Amino acid sequence: MHEALPTKLNLRRRHCVSETSCPICEAPREDAAHVFLHCPWLRPVWFGSFFQLAPDPSILSLPIWLEAKLSQLSNLESGSEQLISYLGFLLWGVWKMRNNGTFRGERPNPVLCLNLAVEASKEFLLETTTEFLPISGGHVNRGIRHWTRPPLGFLKCNTDAGFLRVGNKAAGGYIFKDDKGCFVWGNHRQLHAASALAAEALILREAVFAAMNLNMDRVVFEADNLGLIEACREQREKGEILAIVKDIRKCKLDFPNWIFSWTRREGNECAHVLARLALCRSIPPHWCAHLPQELSTTINRDMVASAMRESGVAEERSNPPDPP
Ligand SMILES: [Zn+2]
Repeated sequence: MHEALPTKLNLRRRHCVSETSCPICEAPREDAAHVFLHCPWLRPVWFGSFFQLAPDPSILSLPIWLEAKLSQLSNLESGSEQLISYLGFLLWGVWKMRNNGTFRGERPNPVLCLNLAVEASKEFLLETTTEFLPISGGHVNRGIRHWTRPPLGFLKCNTDAGFLRVGNKAAGGYIFKDDKGCFVWGNHRQLHAASALAAEALILREAVFAAMNLNMDRVVFEADNLGLIEACREQREKGEILAIVKDIRKCKLDFPNWIFSWTRREGNECAHVLARLALCRSIPPHWCAHLPQELSTTINRDMVASAMRESGVAEERSNPPDPP
């Protein structure tokens, strides 16, 4: 497949063009691995996809990577077919964007690319929602149950809210951490919300406003409410939180690198602890300077665990296959 694709490198092999540079990022060599994995605009695509990965720069061969990925997906206990189809549509979307960039000079749009893939594989998705969606936020083969670091140079903002039906009392919090897992900044709020979903949406919007005001242009916003994250990604409409989500989407227009990512509850523990403390009103107003014990323990544990996993036990940010 990679030999047949009219990448610049292949075109030069066939003496059709004289140079091989990537028309999008001007990297010197546009081969299939560059087109589908490494061109910089793909970073939010792969990370924002259901696979949530960052292709290892050392991957040189697309076919080898693809073969490993497909065998990994076909060994899943459930949802194989859907994920393989999704992967196919994602690659198709990438190729389409690349061609629009090459021939029409359009800037590739990661969000559009992700939406194309989802739309195209929607029938599969809808038929198998319960099987497919729970693994959308983490490693497909393991089903991540822990906090993961954002891609290099990104911040990750975890958000969560607690809700008490009695009196519609709600509170939420958000925490920004850097790509090593170090605490950067956070905040909490008492909220007026009619439901848990509304509370989660409100606190996510707070976090988004904060990032916007501080001009943080590389942020992964992460929450454990799938419907909310899908709404932010324009993959689903939720009437109840429509107005809030609209604000979030509007901010996102000015920050194309922002990523909205779903995680399992275990991956969102720090925000969960913060939300619980806020709901119990047992957190001081200026806690950023002196993290409450429970929060700092959670943050440290996430940081150490993600570093350990990344240093060899398992790959975390990237998901490089072992070449045979
Ligand atoms: Zn490129």
